[in-house]
Amino acid sequence: MALKLYAMTCGWLSLPEAALIEGGSADDLRIPVPCYLIVHPRGTALFDSGLGTVCQSECDDYMGDFASLMQVEFLPGEELKTRLETVEVDVAGVDYLINSHLHFDHAGGNEQVKAARLVVQRREWEAAHEPDLIAAIGYKPVDYDHGHDLLLVDGEHDVFGDGSVSCIPTFGHTPGHQSLRVQLDGGEVVLTGDACYLRRSLETLRLPPGAAHDRDSMQEALKRLRGLQARGARIFYGHDPDFWRGVPQAPARIA
Ligand SMILES: [Zn+2]
Repeated sequence: MALKLYAMTCGWLSLPEAALIEGGSADDLRIPVPCYLIVHPRGTALFDSGLGTVCQSECDDYMGDFASLMQVEFLPGEELKTRLETVEVDVAGVDYLINSHLHFDHAGGNEQVKAARLVVQRREWEAAHEPDLIAAIGYKPVDYDHGHDLLLVDGEHDVFGDGSVSCIPTFGHTPGHQSLRVQLDGGEVVLTGDACYLRRSLETLRLPPGAAHDRDSMQEALKRLRGLQARGARIFYGHDPDFWRGVPQAPARIA
């Protein structure tokens, strides 16, 4: 059995394009919130968990100060648990939950995957438990403090021990942001998370004005992604609506 990769949009955010890329327009861009499932002969892994179901009921209270910055659309049925049912995977039985980072639209669904081993960069986990950084970076501990069995990693990490799925550090957006390389029969895919919101971010190396904790590191991460692309990897942009229109949704596989 070969490895299988599935993509799922688990909700949408709308915010000014100018918040996503330097020089962007003031008009709102409606962006997808992606999650990915990997079915490997040695187990299952999620890359990010999307929004929390709290966004389907008490979103304004939960969003707090962020409520004025963006609109959230998250309909019942778009949450991870239901999306995974389309590929006959029980969210409670997933082996690994890999978070690119711990922002609410990437770790909000972690509470649905409590039995999984949580794979996160050590520096991300530490930053997300540092009171000053929680506020400055916009973490919400309610998203990720669920007592998961933790696997804190430092830099590259080979998830299944065969080189097919690897965490790669792409620090900068947050202190310990990571992306994921997945080796498919059809070639290598890189799931960028928020290291690269838009196709244009990679083409122009332009950063989001306010959403870079460390701009130099984020710039370096973009260059690293460019290097992987030049070697033939397909780049999956974290929140690019045009790109995502062409991505098959589960239960279809990414070939
Ligand atoms: Zn983020």
